[in-house]
Amino acid sequence: MRELKDSQLLKCFSYINGSWHSSETNFIVTNPANGEVIAKVSNAGVVETELAVQAASNALKMWSSKSANERAALMRKWFDLMMANQDDLARILTLEQGKPLAEAKGEIAYGAAFIDWFAEEGKRVYGDVIPSGSGDKRIIVIKQPVGVVASITPWNFPNAMIARKAAAALAAGCTFVVRPATQTPLSALAMAELAERAGIPAGVFNVVVGEDARGMGKVLTQHPDVAKFTFTGSTAVGKSLIEQCASTVKKVSMELGGNAPFIVFDDADIDAAVQGAIASKYRNAGQTCVCTNRIFVQDAVLAQFTEKFIQAVSELTIGNGLDDVNVGPMITSAAVAGVEQLVNDSIAVGATVVLGGERDQQGDNYYLPTILTNVTNDMPIAANEIFGPVTPIIAFSDEEQVIAMANDTEYGLASYFYARDIGRIWRVAEGLAFGMVGVNEGIISNAAAPFGGVKQSGSGREGSKYGLDDYLEIKYICIGGLNQ
Ligand code: NAP
Repeated sequence: MRELKDSQLLKCFSYINGSWHSSETNFIVTNPANGEVIAKVSNAGVVETELAVQAASNALKMWSSKSANERAALMRKWFDLMMANQDDLARILTLEQGKPLAEAKGEIAYGAAFIDWFAEEGKRVYGDVIPSGSGDKRIIVIKQPVGVVASITPWNFPNAMIARKAAAALAAGCTFVVRPATQTPLSALAMAELAERAGIPAGVFNVVVGEDARGMGKVLTQHPDVAKFTFTGSTAVGKSLIEQCASTVKKVSMELGGNAPFIVFDDADIDAAVQGAIASKYRNAGQTCVCTNRIFVQDAVLAQFTEKFIQAVSELTIGNGLDDVNVGPMITSAAVAGVEQLVNDSIAVGATVVLGGERDQQGDNYYLPTILTNVTNDMPIAANEIFGPVTPIIAFSDEEQVIAMANDTEYGLASYFYARDIGRIWRVAEGLAFGMVGVNEGIISNAAAPFGGVKQSGSGREGSKYGLDDYLEIKYICIGGLNQ
């Protein structure tokens, strides 16, 4: 952390109501690349989370009464500061999360882009005037902020998962509380420091960091002052948080797990498909919710694609994210063990390792980029979200069969396919039961597009005009007696 250009970006206290709050105990944040302690962070809990909700509640009237232009001006400053400090923010992110520095810089730009985009979109919260069935009445629809928004975010995108939610919430006129993952609190706190410097008023953006996920989660999901709860994380945890939200009927958005198919048809540009598959699979060491989880290749191009893909993956370098590498460590050795288990269980039922298939000698958190062939769709490596740098390759013969196999999962987040025939492109894009489809494209997420899933991958959208709607209530106003 000594290499930061601005050491004030390293914060170790929760940010509540515009001030930094210390707690009685601390927890440590370690670097997944080598286990080194990088910070001791004040361990907030239930009390601090309640304070943060209170602060957000108190600030709501002030923030929601500002014009969209006033909010946009402050958000634009926040965006500018994030980009001006992109190198430091990326360094903090790589140190606590592990991803290569170039990817971390990309995440900062990606997260900041949501703040910029929603600041502008907030100026376009239009209502409606609807023709009335009666001459002396008018039907008017306005949109208003939902109120206090609470959120819980994961460790795999410590900046962007917060930015995507906070940007839409603040632009809509809501105030915001986030509890980031225990492993990655520092990126969230650096965002708070920059929000303060940008002049975002006290209480509008609050960050509570602490180890008591359950206790803090209960406050965020059950506090009567919270109007909306938004979560990014695993489907299992998401389900229990939805249940918790039921007692006060909160609006809920869920960005949950995925099991993305990546389909290579026989008319695809194979080199482009290889590049797309690498990008969508191995970034963040395979730990993204939209990561390719299963590659399906049509029989006629199976040998050609597999050979080129093995060659390209074998060229990926692995190591500490601060060095010039393509793939960093995984988040914990427990996460590596989970991937190992899926690989070994699949080998036991017939899968073949053609690349990698073991830990890297650099340390407990490193798993080699791996490819398995002779895989079927029901093997553990295909049926589960892998969340690691492993690709199973599954052969298929025709379009209908591959759509059925791709859809044979409880998840429905991202999907990808490579093809050239225009009829096939429409049929497959419409047939895939996923919230997002990349056609001849392995990287699909950006601020102007609606990110989100169907089935057990969640509900709601982040980014785009649809993402703003998730933070707005529709109010119908009937004006009568106009002929009197
Ligand atoms: P996770 O275990 O669900 O954790 C996510 C967050 O929830 C963390 O902040 C965690 O806190 C917190 N949490 C865990 N148990 C909780 C509880 N009982 N009450 C309240 N909060 C609780 O997920 P993960 O393993 O860290 O993240 C990976 C998952 O997230 C994958 O399934 C991935 O697909 C999904 N994901 C989805 C998207 C998307 O946009 N759809 C994006 C990124 C990730 P602690 O850190 O303290 O445990």
